[in-house]
Amino acid sequence: MTYTNQTISDLKQTSPAQAEFYQAVEEVLNSLDPILESNSKYRQQAIIQRIVEPERQIMFRVPWIDDNGDIQVNKGYRVEFNSALGPYKGGLRFHPSVNASIIKFLGFEQIFKNSLTGLSIGGGKGGANFNPRGRSNNEIMRFCQSFMSELYRHIGPTTDVPAGDIGVGAAEIGYMFGQYKRLTGRYEGILTGKGLLWGGSLARKEATGYGTVYFADNMLKAREDSLEGKTCLVSGAGNVAIYAMEKLYQLGATPISCSDSSGTIYHPNGIDLELVKQLKEQQQASLIAYIEKYPNAKYTPTSDYPSDGHAVWRYCADAAFPCATQNELTKSDAEELLANGCHLVCEGANMPSTQEAADLFVASDIAYGPGKAANAGGVATSQLEMAQNASMQKWTFEQVDQQLQHIMENIFVTANETAKEFGQAGNLVLGANIAGFRRVADAMIEQGVV
Ligand code: GLU
Repeated sequence: MTYTNQTISDLKQTSPAQAEFYQAVEEVLNSLDPILESNSKYRQQAIIQRIVEPERQIMFRVPWIDDNGDIQVNKGYRVEFNSALGPYKGGLRFHPSVNASIIKFLGFEQIFKNSLTGLSIGGGKGGANFNPRGRSNNEIMRFCQSFMSELYRHIGPTTDVPAGDIGVGAAEIGYMFGQYKRLTGRYEGILTGKGLLWGGSLARKEATGYGTVYFADNMLKAREDSLEGKTCLVSGAGNVAIYAMEKLYQLGATPISCSDSSGTIYHPNGIDLELVKQLKEQQQASLIAYIEKYPNAKYTPTSDYPSDGHAVWRYCADAAFPCATQNELTKSDAEELLANGCHLVCEGANMPSTQEAADLFVASDIAYGPGKAANAGGVATSQLEMAQNASMQKWTFEQVDQQLQHIMENIFVTANETAKEFGQAGNLVLGANIAGFRRVADAMIEQGVV
């Protein structure tokens, strides 16, 4: 049995029914053979067995009272995965699909992503199976307060610093910050993605989307190409997708699609970003409202589409930016993209491509930027927020954005050089996984068996 198969088979015994987590582990381990073979210390030190086991996993009850006066109960999680490089860092996801498998896959990815940034941040992730959709502001506030009433005892500015993810934006971070302060009496940087009035960093909101496009730009520059004039398929209409589209326009490219859970907009003239911002950031409305203003744009309801594929990947474009959620791009989607001439795929979401789709991209000669490298700009800028909080300073938008550009360039160079070092030039999946792993693993070895 191969090392990867053995590890997955062990995990299936010790952590049953966690399909997404196995997928994330397998994806990383499949890249590690060259480094495990060339350097025996990682096996001798049982690094793989240690790295797949979270240092700590917290699961808790989140009871709250809805607007009808009924008691609701959700499940809360914080997985503190690895602190070899710094305090646990990673977002909180509030979505009905959240379970231990999803949080562990995200936490596992976060270890390598955070390592790749070159900054001092460990990996963690959390969330709840709470669905904010259709909930009133007061319900969201009461939920966040209840969530923090347990979480506060596990986090701190030098121990664990959560942030947002799907379903957790500035409003939720605000309610959780307020509750932490009330419970502890301390005003400190225990969350990132905070409001600009109370410790947040300029450019944090934009950072994941901007960073993904900077990463794409770096991939294209290395091929003596650029984003100028390119048509781009984007999925999602949340924070990552919106600011990816914004940066694409700034760099002369045209985003021609976006999507939400109910459907996909295809607008070959270019997505009206101000309208999407208005619908999503102000009104929390469905994208279907987009075609009221643009009857010529095409709207495909998700329910009209077969389960093995997604409408958004069926259009012709130069580039694709999956910015929605895990496994949103399947093998048949990947085949369609490649057949339609797409020559760049850059992932703003976490693990958006299924393993088979990712394998197809790696085997092709397109530029493929895996999420843990390409979407690291969000968490990197969170670390810049932590640095500002710790030094009681506030940097300008330009200062933060410049550092973000620099970090994304470094991540690209590191992944690219590492792929070359291990004889697989251009394979950024392998390069990112090995580079992310090496830094964490070496730190773990130097810190002893803990
Ligand atoms: N949720 C984001 C991610 O997937 C950001 C995490 C953070 O800023 O801590 O990386």
